[in-house]
Amino acid sequence: MSSLRFKVVGEAFRKKALEVETPADRPSVYFAKYVFNKQKMFKYLPAKVYAKMCDVIDNGAPLDRSVADEVAAGMKKWAMDLGVTHYTHWFQPLTEGTAEKHDGFVEHDGKGGMMEEFEGKLLVQQEPDASSFPNGGIRSTFEARGYSAWDPASPVFVVGDTLMIPTVFISYTGEALDYKAPLKKALRAVDKATTAVVKYFNPEVKKVQANLGWEQEYFLVDEGLYSARPDLLMTGRTLLGRESAKNQQMEDHYFGAIPSRVAAFMRDLEIQALELGIPCKTRHNEVAPNQFELAPIFEECNLAVDHNMLIMSLMRKVARKHGFRVLLHEKPFAGINGSGKHNNWSLSTDTGIVLHAPGKDSESTLRFITIVVETLMGVYRHNGLLKASIMSATNAHRLGANEAPPAIISSFLGKQLTDALNQIETSKNDQLITLAGKKGLKLDVPSIPELLIDNTDRNRTSPFAFTGNRFEFRAVGSEANCASAMIALNTAVAEAMASFKERVDALIANGTPKFAAILEVVREDIKTCKPIRFDGNGYSDEWVAEAEKRGLDVEKSCPVIFDRYLDKASINMFEKMNVMNAKELKARNEIKWDTYTKKIQIESRILGDLALNQILPVATKYQSTLVDNVTKVASVFPAEKAKKLNAYNLSLIEQIADHTASINEKVEKMIDERKKANKIDSERERAIAYHDHVAPMIEEVRRHIDKLELIVDDQMWILPKYRELLFLR
Ligand code: ADP
Ligand code: MG
Repeated sequence: MSSLRFKVVGEAFRKKALEVETPADRPSVYFAKYVFNKQKMFKYLPAKVYAKMCDVIDNGAPLDRSVADEVAAGMKKWAMDLGVTHYTHWFQPLTEGTAEKHDGFVEHDGKGGMMEEFEGKLLVQQEPDASSFPNGGIRSTFEARGYSAWDPASPVFVVGDTLMIPTVFISYTGEALDYKAPLKKALRAVDKATTAVVKYFNPEVKKVQANLGWEQEYFLVDEGLYSARPDLLMTGRTLLGRESAKNQQMEDHYFGAIPSRVAAFMRDLEIQALELGIPCKTRHNEVAPNQFELAPIFEECNLAVDHNMLIMSLMRKVARKHGFRVLLHEKPFAGINGSGKHNNWSLSTDTGIVLHAPGKDSESTLRFITIVVETLMGVYRHNGLLKASIMSATNAHRLGANEAPPAIISSFLGKQLTDALNQIETSKNDQLITLAGKKGLKLDVPSIPELLIDNTDRNRTSPFAFTGNRFEFRAVGSEANCASAMIALNTAVAEAMASFKERVDALIANGTPKFAAILEVVREDIKTCKPIRFDGNGYSDEWVAEAEKRGLDVEKSCPVIFDRYLDKASINMFEKMNVMNAKELKARNEIKWDTYTKKIQIESRILGDLALNQILPVATKYQSTLVDNVTKVASVFPAEKAKKLNAYNLSLIEQIADHTASINEKVEKMIDERKKANKIDSERERAIAYHDHVAPMIEEVRRHIDKLELIVDDQMWILPKYRELLFLR
């Protein structure tokens, strides 16, 4: 056969093969099937209304009532075509999850029958009686109403029989009671401030968008075993359990073959996520046994946050279908890696420039350097606040452990970027040679290759690392709402950009040429923010000492770290950037402290209960069988011989006695500490008491229980052990 003929046959065969495949199975076909995106709007809305909605979505134009009615009508039609009967405002209260209250489309038709009804006003605004959501005292109960309002920037979607409407949640007096409202304000601030800076280089740019690509880590455990562990069930983590003899030391799990049961779960999850418009791309095993990761393609930050909230609830649902429970807790198991949520973050323009990616010529390189340096300025000025933004009772378990959130925020830049910054720092403006060229100025900016080779040699210990075209904020907790970190980061960067612009404008006003003025301020800021740059081992003890010398925040106590929200510099920043006011910040901190206290309180209670009604009875029972055996041995052997034979069991009896006595004593002390702490009125002081006096007792009690686990007869030990929980096949 001639090669030409083979080509033709091959082509025909390929076409045939493509025909046979059912197209409906392809992500390109079912992607966003359940999302009322522009494509659906185009189909279901009148042309005028569609155009208006595009303006609302793309440019934040206001949505007036008559348009809202028409949008709602189109939405209802689309939803009913999918069999939807209910709708809900879907919002993100200051807990970890999302909240929803469903209403049916049904209404009386006035003639004794029913009709399906969904007006614009129901789409745009609602008043959930949400007095039981945490509000930090902002809404006293007599005005216990907040309202939720649609965020058209995040499209409406369908889950099951319900139309989900992403909303902000605000009190009647205007304060935000959720994560979305301040996030949107932070994104507006960083857009405004960065656009103004980018205009020095690209006057045509109208908008700067923050991007977020999250990498979600999680554990899976078998549902049956999970149910037999009250601690996992109630707190999301194991409060007791000896390390398994084998865990992650062989490093055989990371990037290993995915167990088939897990693969089936992942496939199901991905399909459902893609149908909801979440662009899932990457999946793999993580470092610890039973630990996995899922990552989508990055998206606009507000939408990416919604998608992360959505995927966490989807994961819980799909896991159960496959006989698993998903653990999103940051540290479900002691002694092995915990889970985080890397937040890959960058800024880009409406003209398609990724501002955190190195440029091609000296002008775009200076723009890149400016963006990087002002990002570092924001992170440097507010490093304590950024740490507070990722801190929680659960993420605190990763703090200071060898896993990406060291108790100090610093930034890794890699060698090339570091060299470039050093070079600019020591350069002088008179090194700028005036040329007759277009800009009349030659910029003395070191060139940086577009693809930074440091990419291959990333410093995994850095909590805020530059990774080629973005920064990766790795300290975020796996269970957290990314919005918390994104609010702090984007506001801090907005403030830095605004300050940069002010100083450059002042120089220009005094006659300094534009690029010279930019270089001068960049140089000044490189010097100022130097303490935040650290390329060494973020886990080492030397770094803690060094960071303290540099004036970085090294506080380790979770409730004290929350104080950073109320620092003068933080309040000034949030108020100046129009993101949150002092009242909101104070209220939010009350919630943070209260949540911290409750989490530790629940853990302490559950561990106390388990110790008293599961561990001690089992240990005592086993001890009795040993005592029984010892007396019997003594009765059948001569004294000298019996003594020898009984030595091991006697030592066990004694060890059990020691541990049970210690457990008793420590549980009592733990209860006492709780009682003392509960009497404290101030939310902050109470949280600190729980941190300083109750949390350490949890560890103390656990230590003795874990010792008993090794000694006591395996058949008697009712709680599933780590070696049973951790190795899915
Ligand atoms: P890693 O090697 O750290 O696992 P990946 O290449 O898998 O990183 O990417 C992690 C996430 O970063 C993905 O969500 C990806 O889409 C996102 N990402 C890539 N480039 C950017 C960017 N410029 N801005 C924000 N996120 C980005
Ligand atoms: Mg990563």
